[in-house]
Amino acid sequence: MKIGVDLGGSHIAVGVISKRNTIIAKREKDIVEVQKIEDIKQYIVDNIKLLISQVLKDVGAPSLVISKIGIATPGKIKNNIIYDIYNLGIKEFKLAQILKEYYNVEVNVRNDAKCAALAEKKIGNLQNYDDSVFLCLGTGIGGATFINGRMLEYAKHIGSEYGHMIIKKDGLNCKCGNKGCFEKYASMKSLKNGVIDLLKLDENTSSEKILEILINKVNKNEEKVNNYIDEYIDNLLTGLSNIINIIEPEAICIGGSFVYYEKVLYTKLIEKINSRKYNCNIPEIVLAKLGNDAGMIGALL
Ligand SMILES: [Zn+2]
Repeated sequence: MKIGVDLGGSHIAVGVISKRNTIIAKREKDIVEVQKIEDIKQYIVDNIKLLISQVLKDVGAPSLVISKIGIATPGKIKNNIIYDIYNLGIKEFKLAQILKEYYNVEVNVRNDAKCAALAEKKIGNLQNYDDSVFLCLGTGIGGATFINGRMLEYAKHIGSEYGHMIIKKDGLNCKCGNKGCFEKYASMKSLKNGVIDLLKLDENTSSEKILEILINKVNKNEEKVNNYIDEYIDNLLTGLSNIINIIEPEAICIGGSFVYYEKVLYTKLIEKINSRKYNCNIPEIVLAKLGNDAGMIGALL
C-alpha cells in the first residue's frame, strides 16, 4: 500500500494511493500559527505519523502493509534531504530518513511543483504532449519542464525555477535576492495582495472573498478591477512568452490556485495569447486536472 504525503506551507495531507494512482483515503491537517509551534519539525513528523495511522484505519489496513512513502514538499531537495522551506522557517529537514527508520520502507521526497507536474504528465492534462511546461501558480511560482516526454532533472539543483525569471528591471524585491521576479507579479499571492491594495481591503481578506470580488466586480470598482486583471494577465503573458520562446512547448499546464479563477483569468489569458506572435506555434494552455491531490500522487510516480 503506497502512502502519499503533501507537506504544504500551511497544511499536511496524507493519502493512501492505489496502483492506478488514485486516492483511496485522505486525511488533512492545517498547520495553524506556525510561529507558536516550538519544534516545527517534530510537529510535522508527529502529525504525519498520526495521519498515516488514520488513513490506514480508514481503509482497514494495519501499518505493516505500507510498501512505499512519497513526500511532496516545498523547498529544495538534495540526497533526499529537504532544504529551505521558507514558509515554515525550516533550513534543513531529514524527514525521509526519519520516516524510513520508523516504518522501515522506502521513502522518497520530491519538490511539490515537480510532483504535481509528474502527476499531470502521467494521468492529467499533459499526457498527450512530448514537450511541455508545468507551472504551479500559488504562493510563489514553481515549475517543471518536459522535453521528449521526460522531465528535466538536474544533477545538483532544482531547475525550471521559472518563478525567479526576471520580468521587470529594478522591480519588486524577491526572497531569492533579486528584483522583478515573475512570481512577484504573476503568483496568486501577488494577485491577492494586489487586489487588497487596490481596493484597500483588510490584509486578512480570504481568497474566497477575493475570488468573489474578481467575479462579481462590485459596481463602483468594476473599471479598477478590470484594469488590474488586465495588468496581471500582461505580466503573466510576459513570463509565458519568455518560456515559449526558450522551451517551445506544445503545451503549458497551469496549476495551483489559478485553476479556481478559470472564468476571470484563464479566459482572458487565452484571448490575449492568441493575439501574440512567436517563432514556434502558440502552445495549448491547459489547466491542471488533478488540483490539490496532484502533489501526493506525483510524489509516488
Ligand atoms: Zn526571485
